This record gives sequence, structure tokens and C-alpha cells, in this order.
Amino acid sequence: MATVAKEWREIPARYNLEGSECGNCNRKFFPKRSMCPFCRRNGFGKMHPYQVSRKGKVFTFSVIHEAPDCNRNLKPYAVAMIRTDDGLLISGQLVDVDLSKVEIGMRVRSVLRKLDEDGASGVIHYGFKFVPDL
Ligand SMILES: [Zn+2]
Repeated sequence: MATVAKEWREIPARYNLEGSECGNCNRKFFPKRSMCPFCRRNGFGKMHPYQVSRKGKVFTFSVIHEAPDCNRNLKPYAVAMIRTDDGLLISGQLVDVDLSKVEIGMRVRSVLRKLDEDGASGVIHYGFKFVPDL
């Protein structure tokens, strides 16, 4: 019972770019944290959910040519650090983009995509990726 409840709580965080905001210093975090590393005791119990902006721009990126087995059908692909419009730096894969056209400063937005499929259990994992926001 506890496990099911825990998974339901984590689904919004994984699917919706849910982070945390410290009610003491107003700093924002992603992934979400239960404690503010800046305020520590002063911020205890003041963390609340924060919806990270779905839009941002490419801060830095690299094109991956060698991929582990599970990603072989995807290669080559680009991973990027995205500076969201609200100032957070988060990493993710760039999809639906011509790799030769990826550049720093390019506008992107997050989308929910299939990440991988667990063949044995049939469980499909979803998560966010980034597409060009033209
Ligand atoms: Zn804080």
C-alpha cells in the first residue's frame, strides 16, 4: 500500500517537471528536494512543489555517437543542458531535431515521451524530453 502511494506521488514529479521552491529564500530546485541546501534548518518544512517552466533554451549540448546497448536504435542523439525560462538548469535529450541544426541558445520546450521499454515486464517508462520550440 505504501509503495503504491509513493509511486503515485512520484508520477507528477517525473511527468510534469515538478521541482521544489524554498519558502524561506525562494530558490527553486529540480529535481525536487526535501530540504533547502542554502537555508538548511531555517528552510526546514518550508519546501513546497514548484512547476518548472516547460520552455527554455539550449545552454550547452553534445551529440552522442556511442550509446549503450539500450539506446542503440536511437544513435546518434543529442543531450543538452537546458536553461529554463525560470532560470533552472536541467538536462535532457533533444528529439525531433536535425542534429546539425542544434545550437546554443536554441528555443526548446519539454514534451512527454517514451524513454524505454522493459521487455521482460512490458513496463513502458515515460519522461520528459525536449523538442525545438519554433
Ligand atoms: Zn532556502
